[in-house]
Amino acid sequence: MEGILEIVQFLQSPKDVVIFSHRNPDGDAMGSSLALKLFLENTGHTVSVIYPSEYPATLCFLPKSDDAIIFDFETEKSIEKIKNAKLMFFLDFSGLDRIDKMGEFVVDHPAMKIHIDHHLDPEPFADFVLSDSTASSTSELVFRFFELLGVHNRLNHEIATCLLTGIITDTGSFKYNVTSTTFKIAGELMKYEPDLNDLQDKIYNRQSEKYIRLLGHCLANRMEIIPEYKTGIIKLTKEDYKTYDIQRGDTEGIVNYLMMINSVEVAALITEQPTIIKLSLRSKADISVQKIARDHFKGGGHKNASGGAAYGNLEAVIKKFKSILPNYIK
Ligand code: 5GP
Ligand code: MN
Repeated sequence: MEGILEIVQFLQSPKDVVIFSHRNPDGDAMGSSLALKLFLENTGHTVSVIYPSEYPATLCFLPKSDDAIIFDFETEKSIEKIKNAKLMFFLDFSGLDRIDKMGEFVVDHPAMKIHIDHHLDPEPFADFVLSDSTASSTSELVFRFFELLGVHNRLNHEIATCLLTGIITDTGSFKYNVTSTTFKIAGELMKYEPDLNDLQDKIYNRQSEKYIRLLGHCLANRMEIIPEYKTGIIKLTKEDYKTYDIQRGDTEGIVNYLMMINSVEVAALITEQPTIIKLSLRSKADISVQKIARDHFKGGGHKNASGGAAYGNLEAVIKKFKSILPNYIK
């Protein structure tokens, strides 16, 4: 296990670095990885950010997002970068299955490995681990990593914008998982004068007309409330995907609308993907959707926000989900 001093020393000379984040990268996955890339490049390193799959168009305002390599599209280039890496960062995911096939290239790789994450149940695969499930976001932890390196006063406007994007998106604009540390770090980042109004506008007011119409369809035609289990479900069928031309990232945020209902304490967006049924779960207070995702849907995440998947047809998965609810909701 490496200590922070070994890392500081290791970073003294230029290194080939690869930063991984999870499939379907969100604001925190991208904000944390691009902030780290910007910082390491400014200090002389050669840095590749690799995501297993494409990122949503709504996040392409983030600096250097177009430099990110997508493994699904540029597999050879990704493998080449991974082979040559001397240092690897794993950001915003707890287990190597979240980077798909790339996990295999990493396990026995001799590079120094640094894992920074705020999900539950971190897998032990790295040489240095900064894991804290009470942190609002991985972006918050990347700031704490900069503090450990002693460089948090040497960031810049762009890095602050990336980290604030991660904090804002993972907390739903300071609504969930916020601690005094989150506000302290957000305050520190404000020293770099990010344009917060512009940033919130880019994050929340850049949806397509298609998304808003899809949201309307979900709420009007695809929503079911189960009062006895205080649960709301929205399902999306393969036909919906065709009719509404739903692309990756287009269903982001829809599950949160169920949480606005006063009687709802568990929310599920259950979608029929080409080969799997994907579940996106949310809960209030002490109900753990992480346990539901982990125990029944090969997934995980956080206590109040998790995801998982299952094989089979959509209605069968919904039936299974309903049948296990009594075990988790008292
Ligand atoms: P979302 O519902 O927004 O896709 O994901 C909510 C949380 O659950 C995120 O922290 C995400 O990383 C995690 N998550 C989503 N899907 C999966 C999955 O299939 N496996 C695991 N382990 N975590 C997931
Ligand atoms: Mn996160």
